[in-house]
Amino acid sequence: MKKFTGLFIALLVVGLFLQSTPIILAQATRLNADVLAKIRKEGNENSQIMNSLHYLTDVYGPRLTGTPNLENAGKWAMKRMKGWGFDKTVMEPWDFKAPGWANQRASGFINSPVQDSLTFEVLGWTPGTNGTVKGNAIKIVVPTKQLGDNPRCVRGPSRSELDKYLASIRSKIAGNMILIGKPRKIPVYFGPQATRIKDDGSGGFRFPRRTRIDCPKPEVTPLGGRQVRRMVGQFLAENKAAVQVNDAGMLHGMVRAFGNRFADPAKTLPTVILRNEDYGRIWRLLGTQGTVKLEFNIKNTYYPKGKTAYNTIGEIWGTDKKDEVIMLGGHMDSWHAATGATDNAINVAVMMEAARILKAIGVKPRRTVRVALWSGEEQGLLGSTAYVKKHFGTFENPKPEYSKFGGYFNIDSGTGRVRQFGVFGPPSAAKVLSDAINKSNGFTKFLGSRASKSRRRGGTDSTSFNAAGLPGIGGRQDGIEYFRRTWHTNLDTYERIIEADVKANAILIASAVYELAMRDDLLPRFSKANMPSPPVPRSRRR
Ligand SMILES: [Zn+2]
Repeated sequence: MKKFTGLFIALLVVGLFLQSTPIILAQATRLNADVLAKIRKEGNENSQIMNSLHYLTDVYGPRLTGTPNLENAGKWAMKRMKGWGFDKTVMEPWDFKAPGWANQRASGFINSPVQDSLTFEVLGWTPGTNGTVKGNAIKIVVPTKQLGDNPRCVRGPSRSELDKYLASIRSKIAGNMILIGKPRKIPVYFGPQATRIKDDGSGGFRFPRRTRIDCPKPEVTPLGGRQVRRMVGQFLAENKAAVQVNDAGMLHGMVRAFGNRFADPAKTLPTVILRNEDYGRIWRLLGTQGTVKLEFNIKNTYYPKGKTAYNTIGEIWGTDKKDEVIMLGGHMDSWHAATGATDNAINVAVMMEAARILKAIGVKPRRTVRVALWSGEEQGLLGSTAYVKKHFGTFENPKPEYSKFGGYFNIDSGTGRVRQFGVFGPPSAAKVLSDAINKSNGFTKFLGSRASKSRRRGGTDSTSFNAAGLPGIGGRQDGIEYFRRTWHTNLDTYERIIEADVKANAILIASAVYELAMRDDLLPRFSKANMPSPPVPRSRRR
């Protein structure tokens, strides 16, 4: 587009004469003051984010992959995007391989020596109780052994130690409620509950790092934690325990519930994750009162149809570069302990909103803008991985669409403001975004973009693109309460969203998408010589 380039240089010269740096920067990109003003006005005055959030969280509820809740939320999002004038919406199937699962209702009580209700979540993909079940609380503590002086040096049981222990408790199991292990003692937390990144880029939440320690060599071969859990689970199922009770092990009644989609319901017990406070109370009562009677009633449903899951896609078609695509999205699936507001309904709402803003203000992006709302993220980035494989292939084995791809924006760390982009690609790719999205364009809290060359699949869907050698763009956000409170817990609800932050995020993303959709060239990528090698698979934290 030579004509445009000429016009831009002319404006640049005028800008220089006016000695106005902000105008120069604005005109060096396609993101001019007029478009920015329109994006900001639409995003601030007509925002649909909180309404979308309400539908995703309150109306559809927990959205585990393979459930009708998630499928219905996808259908709703399609209808919504169509209503906003998007050119195409579709739900693209992929193979989840396991049935969907949902908990419909669950209640639990201490019946004796005191009466009270219990607070818990149900472990995903475990069966229900088939009506009310009552039984005694039974403690089990798998034998372990301290090695040396460091309290962290503890070995698990050997195979024969575990067999011997399980044989000793066998007669107590049938029909009862089995508490697995001592209650976790959670120290008081004296730090700040919520955090923001400082304006120099420091601060924010970090997972505590554990230093490596060398423990004395055990005298027997211990079983691994996973082996122990599997063998204990099998033993409890074979001996007809009624319910397995796990300690949530978190502060202030927080419960984090996951689940194994490949668990065989015939060999799995109904399992609850009890808040640490109730778990500790029952444990202490067993110590002083002898017998504690519990009652549970849990109704869960498996959905065989869920083996086919869906990614929800919405497109606004481009003009002269329609076959090139700029993508933005987040995962729509959630865990089930709450309604998955900060993880990740809010960023589904934000990405839908960013595209809506561009449609509503009447700009005509040259490239196609495509919103992608993934499923199966929580089970290992499965939906986005399937999508990238189907549409783009990899750097080493590309499909025709591979060369037409111009970047994928992803947000997935809660409600906080996006403070930085990490872009997979050479430094020139980060520069494109830094030139457009910066303080002179009014993004006063934005700290710039950083290039990344990691092709490892990591904590969220942008890394499915990175792994293929494509420019995934991940938003680094103010932590707020995400990892400390809401992430995958029973506290992850609508109330935890900061409206001002998420509106700012939609405006930021709309602006960045517009820039990439309008510039003459696609976002710079690694050359063949500089492309990092494909990653070696490893286990992931999500
Ligand atoms: Zn997430």
